[in-house]
Amino acid sequence: MVNLLQFDRAGLGDFCEQLGEKRFRATQLFRWIHQRGERDPAAMTDLAKSLREKLAGSAVIDALPVASEQVAADGTIKWLFDVGGGDAIETVFIPEADRGTLCISSQAGCAVNCRFCSTGHQGFSRNLTTAEIVAQLWHAEFTLRRRLGLAEGERAITNVVMMGMGEPLQNYAALLPSLRTMLDDHGYGLSRRRVTVSTSGVVPMIERLRDDCPVALAVSLHAPDDALRDELVPLNRKYPIAELLSACRGYLARAPRDFITLEYCMLDGVNDSPAQAAALLALVRGDGGADSGLACKINLIPFNPFPESGLRRSSPERVSAFAAVLQEGGIVTTVRKTRGDDIAAACGQLAGEVRDRTRVAERTVRAVPVRIERGPGRRDSRRTGAPAAAPTRSTS
Ligand code: SAH
Ligand code: SF4
Repeated sequence: MVNLLQFDRAGLGDFCEQLGEKRFRATQLFRWIHQRGERDPAAMTDLAKSLREKLAGSAVIDALPVASEQVAADGTIKWLFDVGGGDAIETVFIPEADRGTLCISSQAGCAVNCRFCSTGHQGFSRNLTTAEIVAQLWHAEFTLRRRLGLAEGERAITNVVMMGMGEPLQNYAALLPSLRTMLDDHGYGLSRRRVTVSTSGVVPMIERLRDDCPVALAVSLHAPDDALRDELVPLNRKYPIAELLSACRGYLARAPRDFITLEYCMLDGVNDSPAQAAALLALVRGDGGADSGLACKINLIPFNPFPESGLRRSSPERVSAFAAVLQEGGIVTTVRKTRGDDIAAACGQLAGEVRDRTRVAERTVRAVPVRIERGPGRRDSRRTGAPAAAPTRSTS
């Protein structure tokens, strides 16, 4: 049986052709699935009877089994979906007065292994399929429509952020049809500005996304220089900051907005000093000369702790001082409100249940301890050859 959630509309057209039906029928079928939430082909009354019969024998609309649902005091909802094989992924709905945002996962676990991220700490199990990515939206949209008593045509989810578990640009093949389904006027009809891909900086895939399906882009920077970013976001060793910013500048040529959002997780004593704010300002303003800098907005995310991180959240005073340096330098800077942290649904707290097939966390934690030094005067151990101080997991 084929799961129809795996297809964007073009893919569904191919599938209809394989069944010996006209391609255009896919549009009707797509609307039943993604606009009306229908799972039973027999109920799709305006579809040709021949197609309904063929679908009944060959296809399913297979949503993900819900392992649990938790509702936070602020109305945030977190679903845990069972994706089989001992893996479970999380999806978070964040209600606000004027919008409903869904934070979607792209992988079971994550191989990037950022030091401050609970998903990364779990290691990596596997990529999600397009059907599993889209099923998160399908479930949330139609569950909430029923629950909120929305009329047909009214939408529960107005914005999607690919900021759940996983690195979406390391699962590009499955991501692309998912994005197309979200944007499709016969699907969820979300505008490109309201769908955000967040990445730790997979440079070649930023370029692909620009050409294939430019949506809003958020880049997880977290450090103003390569020495520190190498440690916090290990992917930086492959794609250092200058290359990353260059890819971002290239992305802007086709982006739906005229800026890139830079995310910066505020870690006490690690990346939150006024000097580091000044270095970040110089970096994005392009004080390095021509072909540098970036049109951006900066989103500071107070670190959301999780057990074993060994890291602490920056104080509100420290965050404000950091933001002030950037704002005074002319960069629009916001501080992300923490939502749903009483149910561990905040940024970086999504761990699901992951069978780590790569044992990536175990291997890299042993190999590359994170330095945490307080105050100015942090040495670059790569350059000086000095041993790294204070492994993350021995400080707390
Ligand atoms: N892999 C992608 C998207 C998922 S993470 C990426 O890294 O961009 C979504 C955002 O949450 C990223 O900006 C990430 O850096 C941030 N994040 C991860 N762990 C966090 C934590 N413990 N506290 C606050 N933000 C965190
Ligand atoms: Fe992966 Fe993003 Fe977490 Fe880094 S922050 S480990 S890229 S999910």
